[in-house]
Amino acid sequence: MCRVRSGETRDEGVSPAWKSSTVTQVAIFDLDGTLAETMNVDVRCFVEAIQAHLGDVELDTEWNSYPYVTDTGVITTLYEQNVGRRPHEHEIASIRADFVTRLTAVAESRPEAFREIPGAGAAVRSLRASDRWAVALATGGFRPSALMKLDLAQVAAHDVPGAFACDDITREGILELAYRRAATHHGVDAFDRVVYLGDAPWDVRTCRALGWPFIGVGGRGDELVAGGASHVLPDLSDLDALLSALDEATVPAA
Ligand SMILES: [Mg+2]
Repeated sequence: MCRVRSGETRDEGVSPAWKSSTVTQVAIFDLDGTLAETMNVDVRCFVEAIQAHLGDVELDTEWNSYPYVTDTGVITTLYEQNVGRRPHEHEIASIRADFVTRLTAVAESRPEAFREIPGAGAAVRSLRASDRWAVALATGGFRPSALMKLDLAQVAAHDVPGAFACDDITREGILELAYRRAATHHGVDAFDRVVYLGDAPWDVRTCRALGWPFIGVGGRGDELVAGGASHVLPDLSDLDALLSALDEATVPAA
């Protein structure tokens, strides 16, 4: 069970500050396409899990077309379109378990299908070791599949504060919860600065809605700049460029 009540600020998986509370800024990372390159495997297993439960339904994998670009949001939309109601919690849990089973099978036969975005592991290690930046994770994916993908991509972020599709149907809610969990973890009421790093147009939109500075990562740079991103990095391999972008990035322009 990974549902969290609205307004909850603590999580059983997040211990209080283990690190002295000198960090005043938090970098919150998306997962797919930002820390780990798993989208092809991810999409195929997700679609198969949904179709195993809903039948051979028409399924648009252009996620930007869904009202909520999260695993829970996509499943909810497909239930509304094909069943005429929202899914029950046990139905979401069943699809989630099936999805993880399918990912596990691919991981065992083709572990090379899960790769880090170049530099992601080193960037996360450097930021976690710094006395300025806290690191958190906010993804529209489910928690069990997200943690599995991080481990397979060998990005050591499975134990940072995080929020997932299990926690909220909206990306805004997931990002805000990740922020609150990071603050709790580091023993602060709030951070002086938050920056979100993501790879997709919905990440830009979410940051504009929240008023958070945003850094784009990956190959969709033109789309991200068109969406208002002030900074886009091709990957996370240039630590100096990342640190500069973290200091300089602004809220996406409307
Ligand atoms: Mg992504």
